[in-house]
Amino acid sequence: MTLKNGLPAAQVLADLAELHTMDDPDADRPGLVNMYDTGMPGVERLATDAFGMYLHVNPLYSTTFPSVYDMEREVVRAATDLLHGGEAATGSWTSGGSESCLLAVKAARDGRPEVAKPRMILPISAHAAWWKGAHYLGVDTTVTPIDPHTFRADIDAIRDAIDENTVLVVLSAPQYGHGVIDPIAEVAALCLERGVRLHVDACIGGWVLPFMEQLGHTVRPWDFRVPGVSSISVDLQKYGYTTKGCSLVLYRDRELRRSQFFVHAGWTGYPIANSTVQSSKPGGLLAAGWSVMRHLGADGYLRLVEETLDLTRQVADGVDEIPGLIVLGRPESSLIAVTTVGIDFFAFLDELGSRGWAMQPQLSQPGIPPSIHFTMAAGHRKYLPSLLEALSQAAEAARARKPLLDIARIEMLRALPADIAPERLNELVQDSIVPGSDTASLHLVVDSLSVPLREAAIFAYFEGLTAPTTTTK
Ligand SMILES: *Cc1c(COP(=O)(O)O)cnc(C)c1O
Repeated sequence: MTLKNGLPAAQVLADLAELHTMDDPDADRPGLVNMYDTGMPGVERLATDAFGMYLHVNPLYSTTFPSVYDMEREVVRAATDLLHGGEAATGSWTSGGSESCLLAVKAARDGRPEVAKPRMILPISAHAAWWKGAHYLGVDTTVTPIDPHTFRADIDAIRDAIDENTVLVVLSAPQYGHGVIDPIAEVAALCLERGVRLHVDACIGGWVLPFMEQLGHTVRPWDFRVPGVSSISVDLQKYGYTTKGCSLVLYRDRELRRSQFFVHAGWTGYPIANSTVQSSKPGGLLAAGWSVMRHLGADGYLRLVEETLDLTRQVADGVDEIPGLIVLGRPESSLIAVTTVGIDFFAFLDELGSRGWAMQPQLSQPGIPPSIHFTMAAGHRKYLPSLLEALSQAAEAARARKPLLDIARIEMLRALPADIAPERLNELVQDSIVPGSDTASLHLVVDSLSVPLREAAIFAYFEGLTAPTTTTK
């Protein structure tokens, strides 16, 4: 686009609506993208109205807009109460899960200024955001394995990995990939003994597990009731059903949060004090989140979680009945990972795609098969029959099919050297894609590459996607 003279608002909105037709109208289907739909009328309207009311509010100006600080304190207190943080607990509203993780890394790194080469311990099931935090903040990582059957972090490996440079251990409740809760109490005891911070990443489960417990389910201990848990991240933008841009990073006490902040008064402009990465930020996001939380309330979340768990169980039970499909591990909340047994996984993925359920797989890792992932939400009931039917038909159709790529090609892709020229890698990737297959063969090609080459291939794709076009529209 080249900037032209201004257009009437109605025309711009019409153009926007036209652009939006490019997007999947049913993007809220389970497993496609993580959309959290309450299925309740009025929630989206409320969020939109609240955002509109706070459109111009910038939390940077704490004296002009004290109300956002009021809302932040309320939201944080509601969360620390839910997670049994007690009076001393505190936290911050952030723009999303990744920022919550990033800030926990910063707080851990800067909380131990005497450690010259800070390091954090990440089970391979930790969310990618933690690697990003390590990358951005110059913290080294030690990656520890997970049990190939339970998918939980390996306690002994973490024990062995903790050393004098360790500033943070990360566990998840639950981990995203397979929906299982890490052995938090056991590792917390280790961390306490060694004086290392333990962060529990409950970005996705933090607003589900407390209500599960209230509904009478057994939930293995994971929150601030476990001594040794120093911080917890919870995304309200997931099972809090708020709009994107709402997450919390919580700490057991104010001392642990100190090093998260940044204050600067030594330049020629205004002094700043930031709790988060952004300085100017959209107050409307918090207003929308605060409003949705108040509207849904404890009883609302309880109902939503009950409905979500019911749907999760139905999908898991449905999958169990389909020959050739299995649920990985024993999902402990609302997330399910499914893989194939005796059926080529990527042929199955292809069949699923051709039935209107094109899904991005979770790639294989050492000892762990590739899988598809479902994040269930309360509004998903309407999709259940078609989902289970598509899974069943795709499994049956895939059983009769040959693998998408022959083994020689897969071996060739696996063996590519890490220093291969990007153009050559791209050529080989393009060459290997099976014509007529949905995105499944592309996923298989990426899955067959070593991790650095997977990343190079994904980078090339994404860099192209985000390069400005030269055409004028
Ligand atoms: C969603 C999620 C995150 C953060 O992802 P964002 O897309 O930045 O919100 C971190 N950890 C876990 C376990 C998650 O599920």
